[in-house]
Amino acid sequence: MRVFSDISWLRAALSERADGNLRIGPDTPAAEKEKRESGRRTFLIQAGISGSLFTPFLTHSNRAGVVSDLPRPDLSKQSERAESFSATAQHYYIQDADALITSAKGAAIGVTVADCAPVFLADEKKKAIGAVHAGWRGLTTGILENTIAALEQAFGSAPADLRAWIGPCIGLCHFEVGGEVFEIFPPEVRRRTAAGLFVDLPLACRNALIFSGLLPEKITIDGNCTYCARDRFFSWRRDKPEDIQAMLAALAIAG
Ligand SMILES: [Zn+2]
Repeated sequence: MRVFSDISWLRAALSERADGNLRIGPDTPAAEKEKRESGRRTFLIQAGISGSLFTPFLTHSNRAGVVSDLPRPDLSKQSERAESFSATAQHYYIQDADALITSAKGAAIGVTVADCAPVFLADEKKKAIGAVHAGWRGLTTGILENTIAALEQAFGSAPADLRAWIGPCIGLCHFEVGGEVFEIFPPEVRRRTAAGLFVDLPLACRNALIFSGLLPEKITIDGNCTYCARDRFFSWRRDKPEDIQAMLAALAIAG
């Protein structure tokens, strides 16, 4: 699924089930990691996304990492984990973050998702981008607000200039939560029915973006529910796999 195809300097896409399981975590066995890195590479090439790929090991935190103009984060330490894609494109894993931002050409940033929302941010004036993994934990502790603040701090982005895309995630139809989680969310994004307690994750993302100063007309909600759309997306809640299966949401500034 291509995203922001009207922005000429940007390449952004979300993989789908047919692209295979593209999740790579610190626990992924070496042989499987190699296979998934190959799958990521194929997906990125098909989406027209080039350069090195930076993905964080997700922890449902509220931390946003910056990929700088010289994306060579401590190669001595990274070299054990970084597998070569080719002579020019490498794969870097960032510890303990749930969002990445960059303004560097040749640095693709991405997050994996399987019910949590992928959120892309693009500053058309400053040519800066962000990729966010937004689940209920990150959302309620400010992952979107922190990512927007990081864009302001690192690249001088004004929130009103940001475009945002909230991708396929578990919808209100299937995001049933317990009472404690339900109470964290404001009334406008939650619903109590005979079936249980539900939260509207895309709407909660949208509200957090507006709270941070984004203009409503610059926010797009994809609207697909990962649980409902079995043929297209992995869903952790629906599939409950022993080994988490996930899509890759990635974007890059075209060189
Ligand atoms: Zn659903």
